Amino acid sequence: MSVHSENAVLTHQVAFIQGGSRGIGAAIAKRLAKNGAIVALTYNSSPDHANKVVKEIEVAGGRALAIRADSADAEAIKDAIQLTVKTFNRLDILVNNAGVLAIAPLADFSLEDFDRTLAINVRSVFVAAQEAVKYMTDGGRIINIGSTNAERMPFAGGGPYAMSKSALVGLTKGLARDLGPRGITINNVQPGPVDTDMNPANSDFADSLRAMMPIGRYGKDEEIAGFVAYLASPEAAYITGASLTIDGGFAA
Ligand code: NDP
Repeated sequence: MSVHSENAVLTHQVAFIQGGSRGIGAAIAKRLAKNGAIVALTYNSSPDHANKVVKEIEVAGGRALAIRADSADAEAIKDAIQLTVKTFNRLDILVNNAGVLAIAPLADFSLEDFDRTLAINVRSVFVAAQEAVKYMTDGGRIINIGSTNAERMPFAGGGPYAMSKSALVGLTKGLARDLGPRGITINNVQPGPVDTDMNPANSDFADSLRAMMPIGRYGKDEEIAGFVAYLASPEAAYITGASLTIDGGFAA
């Protein structure tokens, strides 16, 4: 990875990634840095992973900052965005990646898990967008990480997760109307099964998911990151309010 490549279309831009320590968020952080952006990333429980992402970006010649901020805590999100702006003097790109997946039969699903799912998967997106646009340059980018489960939920026990990702579809449409006059785009990327700690490709469950996809394999975090990088680029200025599925045909 080198930031001094011809792909460095995000040079001088600052990106804030909510949940960038592991999995898809870490891949997005590294990819945006590779494209020239300065990256601030939050983590909650994985400081070592977050610091490793920062190190990798720095070794490649980029700049990055890891900030502890629980996405269930609105004040922590706002403080992290303010620290990013204070440190790097601007904000151009917000990626809302932090997410949790709780699965349990309806009878056993706790209200605590229900509320935490909504707080991290939905409310944090609203809070971060509201705070970020105070500082964001006109023409900026907001990219949410939803899920193909907003379109297809083929197993029991995942209703609240599917609901949380469906909520992002509507939130993204509505906020596009708020932000369009400033040329700020907001889009919702909906991955299918991607090999991460949340959804390992070697789990017992994985074969059943592979069987549902025309492209019968798990996605790679780099594939999602590449799509996010495109949405963050100047080329994508005319895409907004969209939910864009990248799922190997899972929902087809
Ligand atoms: P992982 O569980 O591998 O990573 C989750 C990331 O979110 C970590 O960086 C974690 O940070 C962060 N995070 C979780 N909770 C919080 C919190 N309370 N505050 C701050 N950060 C938090 O998940 P994935 O990479 O697989 O998922 C990333 C996103 O993609 C999620 O929104 C998920 O719903 C979505 N997605 C994933 C799919 C998949 O198959 N993997 C498919 C479709 C969508 P830390 O460890 O530091 O707490």
